[in-house]
Amino acid sequence: MKASAYRFFTSQEISPRGWLKRQLELEAEGLCGNLDKVWPDVRDSKWIGGDREGWERVPYWLDGFIPLAYLLDNDDMKARAKHYIDRILSSQCEDGWICPNGETPREEYDIWAIHLISKVLVVWHDCTGDQRIPEVLYRMMKNFYELILADGVKIFNWGQYRWFEGFIALNFLKERYPDEAWITELAKLLKKTGTDYGAVLETWKRPLNKWTYYTHVVNLAMMLKSEAVSNALLGEEYTDIAEHFYRTLMEYNGMAAGTFTGDECLAGVSPIQGTELCGVVELMYSFEWLYACTGDAKWAERLERVAFNALPATISDDMWTHQYVQMTNQINCTTIPGKPIFRTNGSDAHVFGLEPNYGCCTANFGQGWPKLALSAFMKADDGLVNAVAIPTEVNTAWNGVPVKVTLDTSYPFRNCFTYKVYAEKKTSMKLRVRVPSFAKNVTVNGKPTAKRAQLVFGGFEAGETVIEISYETAPVLTARPNRLYTVNCGSLLFALPVESECEMREYIKQNVERKFPYCDYEICGISDWNFAFASRDLQVEEREMPSDYPFSSQNPPVVVHAALCHIDWGFEDGYDTVCAKVPNRRKALDAPQKLTLYPYGCAKLRMTEMPLVKSRE
Ligand SMILES: [Zn+2]
Repeated sequence: MKASAYRFFTSQEISPRGWLKRQLELEAEGLCGNLDKVWPDVRDSKWIGGDREGWERVPYWLDGFIPLAYLLDNDDMKARAKHYIDRILSSQCEDGWICPNGETPREEYDIWAIHLISKVLVVWHDCTGDQRIPEVLYRMMKNFYELILADGVKIFNWGQYRWFEGFIALNFLKERYPDEAWITELAKLLKKTGTDYGAVLETWKRPLNKWTYYTHVVNLAMMLKSEAVSNALLGEEYTDIAEHFYRTLMEYNGMAAGTFTGDECLAGVSPIQGTELCGVVELMYSFEWLYACTGDAKWAERLERVAFNALPATISDDMWTHQYVQMTNQINCTTIPGKPIFRTNGSDAHVFGLEPNYGCCTANFGQGWPKLALSAFMKADDGLVNAVAIPTEVNTAWNGVPVKVTLDTSYPFRNCFTYKVYAEKKTSMKLRVRVPSFAKNVTVNGKPTAKRAQLVFGGFEAGETVIEISYETAPVLTARPNRLYTVNCGSLLFALPVESECEMREYIKQNVERKFPYCDYEICGISDWNFAFASRDLQVEEREMPSDYPFSSQNPPVVVHAALCHIDWGFEDGYDTVCAKVPNRRKALDAPQKLTLYPYGCAKLRMTEMPLVKSRE
């Protein structure tokens, strides 16, 4: 098989530090770390012998919970993960089938669950080295292959549109069983019977008020990695088709926070449409694979933009509640009376809660931060590369020499980076550091250095080598569709926070209890939001790093000061809690005032895209 540019480390080699460690601890203390205690579809799932959902929810949850447990080295969480894995493995049938389809005949069970659980078992193996996994996966995927050939399962709906998700496991198997021809045959069969996204691309150019699989935001976010995970096994040339797909999606449906709209299907470029949390974490995972496969820096920059903006924006500070969809300009998160603004989602899809609209994101959102942590550093042929500059450490070996590399930084809130390389003996290992395209005036150990896409360090002697890197970023107004603008500085997007009042809602629906801290919150905007930028002049202010919540909605670690003025901007027709897509008039109503913008990820209610008007001064 053709090697990709970089390969992933496992949680046995990478550990979080600094703010990233705190973020993962919040996730462990919040909903993801407790879902098996509070949510019936995971607690009492058919996957472990219960009577609740026996399809995607347990595997979705484990996909985040397992790496979270191992990155934090949390024994209690590890034991709870093992309990689930042991139950799943012990339920494998004689012929290899592993899914709890219960009364549903196999031919009617959507085989998306096979893809998903196969991916989770690879994650479990990466974290634990569990020696049962290769054989379990072998039997399970071979049985899947035989069932497809014999019409014992059908490929339809999610299984058809997510055909590439099983390739994580197929690549894993091919490495361990290189002579087994059926693995490649199954790969070819999945591609052949799966959806060809190139054939439906025209449908992404005009939003439909209709739910379809081929415009579904989560399918499309997952799909971007399809070539990266499959081309080596299929023996196909890599064409970077993901770039064409991504550009089309962004041109017609792009959002300022780096993702595309989908509520829950593609919804155009308006800042008041939503995008689903599952789409956010799946897009991150696709970008991680695309960067590893190609080594192309554009994918890592796109990953940062989603991870540092869209992800924290849509989950509460304490990580107990989340939205189903986030909006770029979001002045209320209150249930909409009557017809939703969203194309096919319900009226509560943007409320923060346990399972607003639908429970997929409740199970799936946990993979976002742990998988980002696991992508901070990647293995290169000549050493390692720092793909995303978040505080982490790697303990590995290079040509038999134990090596530890640490990175301490408050990036993306600061642009200073301290790398320490500890080698037991002199080593030929290289350390590659990706420098983002927006970095200016790069210095290494205090000395200015020519800007390159990657800085390469080597010649490490025994003992510790310290490398200090810094660069500058400048805040800029960036043009968006509809003659609106956003403020960006480095990877961070900034937004005007709207002050709010929050109403807690505890209730029981369909036997699922919402109870503090996993209750719902209706968040009502109470301050003015009808503003425009009055100047391109922007100032960044670095504030103290909060020790409690890295993306604190109360005390953000960095802000931008901007001059704004009121304009005539009303509500969208038919709504009194949703701002109009665009203002009524683009004329300043008063003199500019200095207001403070927060990182988008910190501002739960916000105005992000605003026009630029002539100042009345
Ligand atoms: Zn979802």
